[in-house]
Amino acid sequence: MTRLLGRFVRIESSSYDRAGVNQLVAALASEWKKRDARVERVRPAKAHGRGDLLRCELRPGRGAPGGQILVLGHTDTVYERGTLAGMPFRVSGGRAFGPGTLDMKAGLVIALSAVDALHALRVAPRRRVVFLWTPDEEIGSEASRPAIEREARRSAAVLVLEPGTGTRGKLKTARKGVGEFTIEVTGRAAHAGVNPEDGVNAVHELALQIARVAGFGEPRRGITVNADVVEGGTRTNVIAERARARVDVRCARAADIPRLEARFRRLRPILPGAKIRVTGGIDRPPMERRMAERLFEQAQALGREMGLGIEESSTGGGSDGNFTAALGVPTLDGLGAAGAGAHTPGEYILTRSLPERAALLAALISAI
Ligand SMILES: [Zn+2]
Repeated sequence: MTRLLGRFVRIESSSYDRAGVNQLVAALASEWKKRDARVERVRPAKAHGRGDLLRCELRPGRGAPGGQILVLGHTDTVYERGTLAGMPFRVSGGRAFGPGTLDMKAGLVIALSAVDALHALRVAPRRRVVFLWTPDEEIGSEASRPAIEREARRSAAVLVLEPGTGTRGKLKTARKGVGEFTIEVTGRAAHAGVNPEDGVNAVHELALQIARVAGFGEPRRGITVNADVVEGGTRTNVIAERARARVDVRCARAADIPRLEARFRRLRPILPGAKIRVTGGIDRPPMERRMAERLFEQAQALGREMGLGIEESSTGGGSDGNFTAALGVPTLDGLGAAGAGAHTPGEYILTRSLPERAALLAALISAI
């Protein structure tokens, strides 16, 4: 498993690097063909220069009850081409390091080994199993979302191979919804010394608006509001005509989305003469725990039989599991490797977790 992981990690595949992603897709496709899967490479519906999706289907055994299980993962990483030179793939002390090891090339390997395990034990899945590998999860999944939702609607369960939480690899049973709003302010330029009374300061207006939206946060209810990028003004001595903020918004409950969006849409200028424009919204709905509860209990029971302690966690970060859970399809996330440092130069997985997670995935696929 570590050797295959090394092969995948050495193919650099940033979300924006279509050639790199497609090279990984080709390598993956040949591994799936070796395992008798029906392999289909699909140009995403809204391509935007992204790489291809890869859909690999395992047929169910005879007399199966029908239906489908969807296993989700992504081929893209957050690392630009060239990162590998300063962050090479290496294995040391029970850890494998390198760009995208944890998030989530280990997940790609785990899926292949789960299928190997099923073949070796002559266990046929009870349902059709579709593995969908997408090229743009790290940048919002805009190109892949239609395909993800189409497959999810046909599925009895969705298993997501994003990394587990921490070195214990806790499964993820709840994720916050994620959105972004942009507040654009237009004021009026004037000389800050000669005729300041003729100006309308867009930076001041924006500061007041940020203070207002910061008050929309209710951390105990799982709602956070953070202005992350702010720009405005041209130079000193000039009253700023324009300013703009991008605001990150997250919420734990789907029921809070309409209220939050309405509060942003209802923002009005505070300073006389200022104009504001608010755009954006919550684009990844929350994955609520109730959608994962039964699958988690099933994973825990299967883990017990294999001597694996299975724990759960919740996170403020989104994944493609948010989309599938929001459709009402039971979704269990964090089934990928255990490790730490995702999206950083120190990213690694615990190699021990590779076979453990392959066993767990194989057990889930055969039990659901
Ligand atoms: Zn990921």
